[in-house]
Amino acid sequence: MKTLERTLAIIKPDAVARQATGDIISMIEKKGFRIIGAKMLHITKPQAEGFYAVHAGKAFFDSLTDFMASGPILVMALEKDNAIKEWRELMGATNPANAAEGTIRKKWASSIEKNAVHGSDAEDTARFELSYYFAGYELAK
Ligand code: ATP
Ligand code: MG
Repeated sequence: MKTLERTLAIIKPDAVARQATGDIISMIEKKGFRIIGAKMLHITKPQAEGFYAVHAGKAFFDSLTDFMASGPILVMALEKDNAIKEWRELMGATNPANAAEGTIRKKWASSIEKNAVHGSDAEDTARFELSYYFAGYELAK
């Protein structure tokens, strides 16, 4: 069944630094997502820790949150039927070594950590992540 959903997408510091922002936005639009919110941010380490709180305690947490605070990121709210699953499909596997042809991570990720993009993984995390970066009035109708 198709349901109109919203998900949070982030173009991570590695991809912004590689000037991949335009290409990634183009891939998003070609797949039919509607970008209903977007902002360029340079978050602090505590803000990255709050966003990735589900990963607190994991071996890669300190490095991941340093990386996410290392440079500007583009956060976007995307809307589409089945947006959560479809955006993760377009991103590709977390580890670019396993990412399929045609995915963003296959094209732009350089390691399992510096993997170009983020996407919410479920309805509840999408709600939390969208509200972490956007107030309701900042999203297009
Ligand atoms: P994201 O949550 O960023 O969309 P994901 O859901 O594919 O990616 P998660 O398992 O949620 O992957 O991990 C969050 C992020 O932490 C990854 O995108 C990656 O940047 C980093 N990461 C995950 N596993 C590792 C690892 N083994 N070593 C280093 N960094 C990792
Ligand atoms: Mg994840």
